[in-house]
Amino acid sequence: MASTPALPLDPTALRADFPILATRVHGDRPLVYFDNAATTQRPRQVIQALVDAYEQHYANVHRGIHWLSEQSTDLYEEARESVRRFIGARQRHEVIFTTGATASINLVARTWGDQHLRRGDEILLSEMEHHSNIVPWQQLAERTGCTVRFLPVTDDGQLVLAALDQLLTERTRLVAVTAVSNVLGTVNPIREIVARAHAVGALALVDAAQSVPHAATHVVDDDADFVAFSGHKMLGPSGVGVLYGREQLLDAMPPFLGGGSMIRRVTLDGFEPGELPAKFEAGTPPIVPALGLSAAIAYLEQIGMERIGSYESALTGYAHEVLARVDGLRLLGPPPAHKAGIVSFVIQGIHAHDVAQLVDQDGVAIRAGHHCAMPLHKRLGIAASNRASFYFYNTRDEVDRLCAALQRAQRVFRRRGDRPSAFKG
Ligand code: PMP
Repeated sequence: MASTPALPLDPTALRADFPILATRVHGDRPLVYFDNAATTQRPRQVIQALVDAYEQHYANVHRGIHWLSEQSTDLYEEARESVRRFIGARQRHEVIFTTGATASINLVARTWGDQHLRRGDEILLSEMEHHSNIVPWQQLAERTGCTVRFLPVTDDGQLVLAALDQLLTERTRLVAVTAVSNVLGTVNPIREIVARAHAVGALALVDAAQSVPHAATHVVDDDADFVAFSGHKMLGPSGVGVLYGREQLLDAMPPFLGGGSMIRRVTLDGFEPGELPAKFEAGTPPIVPALGLSAAIAYLEQIGMERIGSYESALTGYAHEVLARVDGLRLLGPPPAHKAGIVSFVIQGIHAHDVAQLVDQDGVAIRAGHHCAMPLHKRLGIAASNRASFYFYNTRDEVDRLCAALQRAQRVFRRRGDRPSAFKG
């Protein structure tokens, strides 16, 4: 196969930590798991942390005076500290545990958005956003009368930064963009966009669901006001995510959900909200998932985010080379130098769902559809695409297997002749 730079990370050794990667599917085919942008798998160390939490440390947090509750609370707050360190935040209470990136973005829309936005105000998104970073703002626009605008995307899936000159005005109150496209893998120039937003007095929210798991994150250097991401896309359990917010902003925002823990005092006449971060963590929080996320961070830190990033970028380069040889396959998005480990494509004459179903027969798990980014697919003039998304445990050999499975899918389709696809659209 074609030459690519030496890979300093050894995926074979790391794979041994992931029991699920040894799964065989459809008889005896080794599973090739290429759906990491949807959710990653977990190493034994994370699974063990969850078991340990339930077997040894579990009680509700911030409530009991008893020993177990104190232990559980300490571990939960240590998990917050490990997130703080991992993303380079200044204060531990700037890290709010949510249930995921979607919940984090909705929290900002429902609190800061409802508090500040009015008719005439504008929010700037991009055409490549995940629905989680579109719909909450459209809902906000319905509630407040504000306007949602979109930064356009080029044919090869990069943001048209020149359009910022027209789109950013004194009416812009918030710019909310993804750091990495979940469809195309495009890595966006977040620092530049945040700086441009700030220059017109707008705030900046970064949807970091696809960047935090794959590259070192420095929220202070990036200067973002809000950053949202999910634990399950970075080896952690589902059910926990993070909203990072600048202290002064979070302090000034009203609470989102009401209930236990988020108050200082409640009377029959009303309530007084508590301090950060409790103010935004009403009810029993995702205690054990947060401990799992902390174990995931420890695992990632042990490998090193730079190593992960460079390994994935070499693998992506390799995937581009190999997939480009598949007849009728069109790669979407920018060249590998501008993207993270996500490779999306369409194959002429075969619907994305048929492609995914056929390669699944060979044990290869890829995604098909619009990947929660319908406006981006419309912009690219396609109804659906296939997506192979990598993590550090994926290998070149697996990329070769995807390639062979795609070629087999094409042969199957040719044999079927003009029999109609199971999926139209
Ligand atoms: N933003 C992006 C860019 C994503 O890829 C995803 C998950 N696919 C989300 C937001 C939403 O994450 P979650 O479903 O974990 O809330």
